Amino acid sequence: QTKSEGRNGFRFYSREISASIEERRQLESDLHEAFAAGCLELHYQPLVDVDSNAIVGVEALMRWNHPERGWVSPAVFIPIAETCGLIVPMGKWLLETACAQAALWPGVTLAVNVSPAQFRDGDFARFVGETLESTGLAPSRLELEITEGMLLDESHKPLETLQALKAHGVRIAMDDFGTGYSSLGYLRSFPFDKIKIDRSFVGILETDPNAAAIVRSVVALGRSLGMVTTAEGVETREQLAFLADERCDQAQGYYLARPQDPLRLTALLGTWPSRRAPGSLGANGAT
Ligand code: C2E
Ligand code: MG
Ligand code: MG
Ligand code: MG
Repeated sequence: QTKSEGRNGFRFYSREISASIEERRQLESDLHEAFAAGCLELHYQPLVDVDSNAIVGVEALMRWNHPERGWVSPAVFIPIAETCGLIVPMGKWLLETACAQAALWPGVTLAVNVSPAQFRDGDFARFVGETLESTGLAPSRLELEITEGMLLDESHKPLETLQALKAHGVRIAMDDFGTGYSSLGYLRSFPFDKIKIDRSFVGILETDPNAAAIVRSVVALGRSLGMVTTAEGVETREQLAFLADERCDQAQGYYLARPQDPLRLTALLGTWPSRRAPGSLGANGAT
């Protein structure tokens, strides 16, 4: 009895696995097709200065509208692109498109997520320099977001890559801070300009005193190290008020504005109130 259950269990399990391998293979080939056909899009989410409420930056976020599945999350397709090698050409397209777009939005910085394979690519820093030149985007307006895990990788020299990028004049942000090792040693030995506090802490600020204590400490840490601090995933007025009290520099999240296509973002930049009227703390531009 137990044996046959075990066997059934095993069969079910292996069927699940082959289904997911098949699904992944299908997604991978669809992704190749979508990229080749120019069907991937970039949306942009504002980064807002907590004091003045001005939009001071935008983060480029990749979007894929799959013909049958609808919107596929980048959390799903970026790792696929990463393992099948597509991420390098995709990342090049992304950087060129985003830099050309941001050159038309004076006064805001452009944040671009860098994937591990891009970062490992020995040509990355040179490519960034060429892209800045060809698109005319001022290097100081480009901010590259990397995650801690990428610094652990001993197969290349992460510090040299970061220094080569800094030599071009771009800024470096540590993304999703708090989810990895959150090693203070990294903040000391690598040239970061910004810490982005992961939304898993920000989202529970009102209900979890430990999360609040962590956010408060990271903001203080960033300030003492001379780094800009940005809180991700700000969804409520209370979270924004907490960040203002703690003097966090920037906020990003649905409460302020969702990621949106370039046309909508251009319109939003034109109508955004640079300073909130007192007491009007409200969900500007959130759709
Ligand atoms: P990330 O870099 O941490 O980007 C922030 C994510 O949080 C985005 O998810 C954004 O849509 C989402 N977000 C923003 N505000 C809120 C909020 O108030 N609440 C909640 N719940 N979420 C919010 P998205 O676009 O799904 O991207 C997920 C991750 O995929 C990104 O995390 C990034 O690591 C990766 N990714 C996205 N686009 C690219 C890309 O072009 N290149 C690379 N290498 N990675 C990308
Ligand atoms: Mg990011
Ligand atoms: Mg992040
Ligand atoms: Mg995050």
